[in-house]
Amino acid sequence: MDYGKSSTGVDGFLPDSKTILIDVDGVLTDGRLTIDHRGEKPFKQFHTRDVRAIRELISVHGFEVVLVTADEWPGIHHFSRKVGAEVIMSRSKTNLPYQNFIAIGDDSWDVSMLSQAQRAFCPWDADESVKRVAGITRLETLGGHGVIAEMLREIIE
Ligand SMILES: [Mg+2]
Repeated sequence: MDYGKSSTGVDGFLPDSKTILIDVDGVLTDGRLTIDHRGEKPFKQFHTRDVRAIRELISVHGFEVVLVTADEWPGIHHFSRKVGAEVIMSRSKTNLPYQNFIAIGDDSWDVSMLSQAQRAFCPWDADESVKRVAGITRLETLGGHGVIAEMLREIIE
C-alpha cells in the first residue's frame, strides 16, 4: 500500500482518482448471508460481469482496486486474488489510508467513505442513508448483479 501517492498535485488540484474502493456485501453480493447449522457462512455469490469489470479496471485502465469489508469471510481472499484486487478489513470504513478515491457502497456503514470520495456510487437498492449522500451516482443495477460493470462504464465514458 502506498500512503503517499494520493496527495494533492503540484497546483493544489487533486489528480484524477486512480484508486477505487469497493464495499463487498451488498455491492459485489446481493447482501444476503447464507448461514449453515454450525453458524458458518460457506457461500457468497459474485457476478461474472463484476469479475470481468474489476480485472478491466486494473489491467486496461490502470486503477488500483481495493475491496473494503468488515466481514472476515475467508473466501474474499480467493476472490481478490482472482480479480487482482487488494483487501482492507475495516469495520467503520473511516480513516481509510486514501485521500483521493472513487468509492461504491450500499449501507449506512459506507456513508463516511462515500462522503469523502471524489466520485461516489451506489447500487440501485442501497440504503436510504446512502442514496442521500451529496453528489452520489445511484446506478441502475442491484448489488450482486454486475453493478461494478455499470460503474466501469460510468467512470470510463
Ligand atoms: Mg455493504
